[in-house]
Amino acid sequence: MLSNSLIELDRAHLIHPVMSYRGHEKAGVRVLKSGSGARVIDYSGHQLIDGFAGLWCVNAGYGQESIVEAAANQLRELPYATGYFGLGSEPAIRLASELADRAPGDLNHVYFTLGGSDAIDSTVRFIRYYYHAKGTPKKDQFISLEQGYHGSSTVGAGLTALPAFHAGFGAPFDWQHKIPSHYSYRNPVGPDPQAIIAESTAALRAKVTELGADRVAAFYVEPIQGSGGVLVPPAGWMKAMRDLCTELDILFVADEVITAFGRTGPLFACSDEGIVPDFITTAKGLTSGYVPMGAVFMSDNVYNTIADGAGASAVGHGYTYSAHPVSAAVGLEVLRLYEGGLLENGRKAGAHLMAGLRGLSDHPLVGEVRGRGMLAAIELVTDKERKTPLPVAADPSRRIFDRAWDNGLVVRAFGNGVLGYAPPLCCTEDDIEAIIDRTRMTLDQTLEDPDVR
Ligand code: PMP
Repeated sequence: MLSNSLIELDRAHLIHPVMSYRGHEKAGVRVLKSGSGARVIDYSGHQLIDGFAGLWCVNAGYGQESIVEAAANQLRELPYATGYFGLGSEPAIRLASELADRAPGDLNHVYFTLGGSDAIDSTVRFIRYYYHAKGTPKKDQFISLEQGYHGSSTVGAGLTALPAFHAGFGAPFDWQHKIPSHYSYRNPVGPDPQAIIAESTAALRAKVTELGADRVAAFYVEPIQGSGGVLVPPAGWMKAMRDLCTELDILFVADEVITAFGRTGPLFACSDEGIVPDFITTAKGLTSGYVPMGAVFMSDNVYNTIADGAGASAVGHGYTYSAHPVSAAVGLEVLRLYEGGLLENGRKAGAHLMAGLRGLSDHPLVGEVRGRGMLAAIELVTDKERKTPLPVAADPSRRIFDRAWDNGLVVRAFGNGVLGYAPPLCCTEDDIEAIIDRTRMTLDQTLEDPDVR
């Protein structure tokens, strides 16, 4: 049993990410105790299926002994090695090399971070440095998408386009700009893929014209927008945006913090459309959440321009924990598991999940089911014809999250009434069936809730 003192200690001392602090103090913490495969259990003994893999990160599932072994062995042998002073560790070098072998195109250079936010921060610093090295330092304006999420650092929160990350924080900076998302369910041009692609390319072109082509540094995009509500662009959209960035001479950054490492099927979602970006950012599935780590993938062109521009001078960017050997050892083992069957299982489970969720389309609350692989969402509405969102005042996400929890399901309930799914790739058929059944049960109960309708 969870002792009351743990709840009190949490209330008094632990600040939780992206929460109403007062709301959380009132509700009290829920503490998870252990996990195995796709299942977790809390301190009251309540068993749940984790339909969100922690925070879209425990791709390998819980309790993978070989990952624990890899971390323990590395901790015993060499728990830390800096990359400063030209030093290094074997797992970091091997992981960089293995990943570069598998990354699209000429993304042959890997810079390890602690997570996704500092991976994004690193790209902004590298990009500024790149243009200085090229002799075009005026290219210092950055563009991203509405509903985009690119982390919570001072710089990344400005590329992020979610209101809670801006209000009161002085974000975004005046060099950070947005264009509308593809968001096909609610796009004013309608759902036609070609119309959406034409709209997005025209919007990027117009923004670059407005800012000046000689001023724009880079365009940031997630292959599937995650925290904005799992928004999937139409087929061909990423390729069209990538080609346009090449034409306009701006760098293309694919933020794959969620989508990489099997979430949509392959190791990199960019491979789904044969895209080669100038940078890819990753984290989460890189170590399956067992220990923190992120990675920036950089093209030959960018790397060589930076290296030549710096010459004998140090490129002044680095963290104490860059390329941490324990995280790298975990990354190597996780990669082995992905290729040893997890990606394959994830592809099968993803097809099952998508079919099951699509089977809920005729539920009165379901406006749209969307996703790819093991990344999916249901957008809930009170009126399907008008696509009326659930009434925000009733805090539907909190109610749905709580109901799903009681039904034994962890699901992400976004503030706008979107349910997000990103289960571990190790899910069995029973796990997927449980996710679908418990979702149906939760939707039926929500339908009966007069405050939400
Ligand atoms: N980019 C994307 C696309 C993300 O989804 C996230 C985290 N959800 C981040 C960046 C930031 O990663 P982190 O939380 O590890 O800093």
